[in-house]
Amino acid sequence: MADSVAVITVNHRGAARLRGGHLWVYRSDLVASANVPRGTFVHVRDERGRRLGSALYSSASQIAIRLLTSDQIAEEQLTPLLRERITAAVDFRQHLVRGTDAYRVVFSEADLLPGLILDKYNDVLSLQALTQAFDRDDLRQTVLAAIAERFPEASVLERVDPHIRVLEQLPPRESQLVRGERSSTIFTMNGVRFHFDGLAGQKTGAFLDQRENYAAAARYASGDALDCFTYQGGFALHLARVYKSVTAVDSSRPALEVAERNEQLNRAAHGCGEIEWIEANAFDLLKDYATAGRQYDAIVLDPPAFAKTRRTVSTALRGYKELNLRALKMLRPGGVLVTCSCSFHVSESEFLEMLAAAAADAGRRARILEKRGQAQDHPVLLNVPETAYLKCVILDVTN
Ligand code: SAH
Repeated sequence: MADSVAVITVNHRGAARLRGGHLWVYRSDLVASANVPRGTFVHVRDERGRRLGSALYSSASQIAIRLLTSDQIAEEQLTPLLRERITAAVDFRQHLVRGTDAYRVVFSEADLLPGLILDKYNDVLSLQALTQAFDRDDLRQTVLAAIAERFPEASVLERVDPHIRVLEQLPPRESQLVRGERSSTIFTMNGVRFHFDGLAGQKTGAFLDQRENYAAAARYASGDALDCFTYQGGFALHLARVYKSVTAVDSSRPALEVAERNEQLNRAAHGCGEIEWIEANAFDLLKDYATAGRQYDAIVLDPPAFAKTRRTVSTALRGYKELNLRALKMLRPGGVLVTCSCSFHVSESEFLEMLAAAAADAGRRARILEKRGQAQDHPVLLNVPETAYLKCVILDVTN
């Protein structure tokens, strides 16, 4: 019965946000939410009582409301709606994704399933519930049933992010296999093979959002390449197919151990170039190599998110500038810089301005070959800017 559904009233700011096509209302924009249980399905109204849609509520997160639909639907319609959305998400990827058996099947807000992530690594699916609502047993069962229908052969594991459980005030839970027997497999993207193990102490996986950028980076030039922040070798393994030598750097020994195992997986099939894996702080290494006069034909910079909040953006931009400045100085004329930022809070224009300043300081001329973002299986929902986070700019450094 629609009548039994809890109603949450939002102020004019919250209402304007939803009417503007966004899906979130912050807690500070709620007028009344007393006694609404955690993770509940709710109806949203403005202060005049006008209907704004149906949503999932979190009693803990700053994002109190995540809209599912602008229609006011009955609670009984929630399960069919979620199933329909999951089916649509799967269909969308089946039309779009090529050359890989690993991709994001459900990307939260961008698939109108706010709080739900599903990644596919060949025959193993990895599910993440980011909100109180999707942690509910009944919704998990709905989601698992919809997944089983579309991927009957796949194993499914639930990956738990302890930090998110704390933010959502959910009790701790272990990552676990929820269907099938496999928690590890080998997946292939752009013809390059990778290990995946979702449960082992040393987890493996991939930044699926970079898949198309790996292929783009490997389209340019040849010679010597340097991949800073390589993690498990995503860019390096792609570059090794076209570059004479690849040096790959990361500060994490466990990540590099997986990278080396990934290299072995590909060596026989591709006769890929030799990769030198180096455990180091990329900032220090770039400085030392620059001093030593080393030069490269391509450099990849894919650091972790430096800006976790809007307030840390200027510090983050200084970090990005330092890295990019050093890299620009070390490129041979005609060399290529592939430079990324996965901080949502750093906009593309801020990132480009930072690059321009770095080029000026480095005394180099650079041209934009490509302005790229996350792979298409991580779509950007136009009215929810938070769904766009990855920047990948490819520069041709002329002199
Ligand atoms: N390029 C990778 C993803 C990089 S994730 C890919 O496409 O798969 C960021 C990586 O930066 C992590 O592996 C982390 O261990 C590493 N890292 C963080 N700080 C670092 C530092 N100061 N120097 C080198 N690596 C660092």
